[in-house]
Amino acid sequence: MDNRLKKYARLLIETGLNLQKGQTLVISSPVESAPFARLCAGFAYDVGCREVVVKWTDDALSREKYLRADNAVFDEVPEWFSHFHNDYSESGAAWLAISASDPEALKGVDPDRLRRTSIAVGKALEPYRRRQMTNFFPWCVASVPTEAWAKKVFPDKSGEDAIDSLWNAIFEAARVAEDSDPVKLWQEHRARLSSRKRKLTEYQFRTLRYKNSLGTDLVVGMPENHVWEGGDEKTANGLVFCANIPTEEVFSAPKFDDVNGVVVASKPLVLGGNIVDGFRLELKNGKITKVSAEKGQEFLENELSVDDGASYLGEIALVPYDSPISNSGILFYNTLFDENASCHFAFGEAYPCVKNGAKLSKEELKAAGLNHSITHVDFMVGTPDLSITGTTKDGKDIPVFINGNFAF
Ligand code: ZN
Ligand code: ZN
Repeated sequence: MDNRLKKYARLLIETGLNLQKGQTLVISSPVESAPFARLCAGFAYDVGCREVVVKWTDDALSREKYLRADNAVFDEVPEWFSHFHNDYSESGAAWLAISASDPEALKGVDPDRLRRTSIAVGKALEPYRRRQMTNFFPWCVASVPTEAWAKKVFPDKSGEDAIDSLWNAIFEAARVAEDSDPVKLWQEHRARLSSRKRKLTEYQFRTLRYKNSLGTDLVVGMPENHVWEGGDEKTANGLVFCANIPTEEVFSAPKFDDVNGVVVASKPLVLGGNIVDGFRLELKNGKITKVSAEKGQEFLENELSVDDGASYLGEIALVPYDSPISNSGILFYNTLFDENASCHFAFGEAYPCVKNGAKLSKEELKAAGLNHSITHVDFMVGTPDLSITGTTKDGKDIPVFINGNFAF
C-alpha cells in the first residue's frame, strides 16, 4: 500500500480530529471509498476509540432517489436520521466527513426537490449544525478520489490515471509526502495561520473593501469584537482539532446587515450535485438583492431562498492567491479544495466569530451582528489582482491584500 495513504489516514485521526481514548467516531463516507474508511477506523481503534460508526453515502442511489422516489419524500426527514446526527453530536462524538461527490451527480433532477430537501434537512439537523459550528464536538472534512469526481477534474485521463492524479493532488494539498512527517508539517502550518488570525483580530477593522478587475467592488462591515479564526479550532472542552484538511484560510463573520456592493465569483461552485458558474451578486444593507449566473442560476436562487438568513453573508475568509492549492492550478470542483485556493465568502449561517461567541445564544449572536440560517454555502471570489483594504475604527486605511496576496 502507498505509504502516503497511511500517513494521510493517521493525519486525519490525530491532527484533524485529535481523537481521544473512549471517544466515538462517526465517519460519513462514499461506499466507493470503503477501503479508506476502514483504514481510518483502524487508526481510530489504535488510539482507543470507543466505537466507529459509519454512515455510507452513494451518488448513484441518491440520484435514483431524486429522479424516482415518491414526491412527498423530499419534505420529510425520518426521525432516525435526525436522531443519528443530533444524538451523536450531543454525545461529543468526533465526525470525519469524506467529501468526494461527483460534482454533477444530480444534474437534471428537479431543482424543486433539491430545494425542499435543503429546507427539510436544514431544519431537522439544526441542533447538530449548531454544535458543529460552535465546535461542541471535533469534526474534520477531508477527501479521497472517486472515479466520477476524478474524471471531472482530469477529463483527459482514463479512470485509473485520473484517480491517481487526484490522489497526488490531495496528498500535495494535505502536505502528505513519502519523505516527511505530515503531523509535524501541520503544526508549523497551523502556527502560521494562527499568527495571521491574531494580527487581523488585533486590527478590529470596521470595514474591508474588496476590489478586482472581475467587477467585485464590495464593502464588508465587521461586527464589534469580531475574532478571526483558522487552522486550530478548539472544542468546548479545550481539545485542539483541525476542521478541514487541507485548510489555508483565516475566517471571520461579516456584520450581516452591513455589506454593500457587487461581488463576482472567481470559480465555479458545486451546489448539491450541480454546478453554478459565472455568477455575480449585488448586496444592499447585507441582503443579496440581485443574482445572475451563466450556469445553474436556478440552483443558486433556490439555495438563497431556503430561509430569510440565506440571502445574507455569514463568512468572510482570506486565502492568499499564492498558496499551495491555488498554485497547483487545478480546479477541484469540490469546495474543500477550491475554497482553500481562494478568498471566499459564505452566504447563510455564521460561525460565532465574536468574543465568547460559542457561549452566546442564537438571539445574542444575531444582536452582535452575526447571521443565522439553516444553510451555509462557501463561494470563491479571490483573483490574482484582488485588493482588500481595511479601515480601522479611527478611519485609517490599511492594505490587507495587494495583488491577491496578504500585504502583511
Ligand atoms: Zn471558509
Ligand atoms: Zn464556510
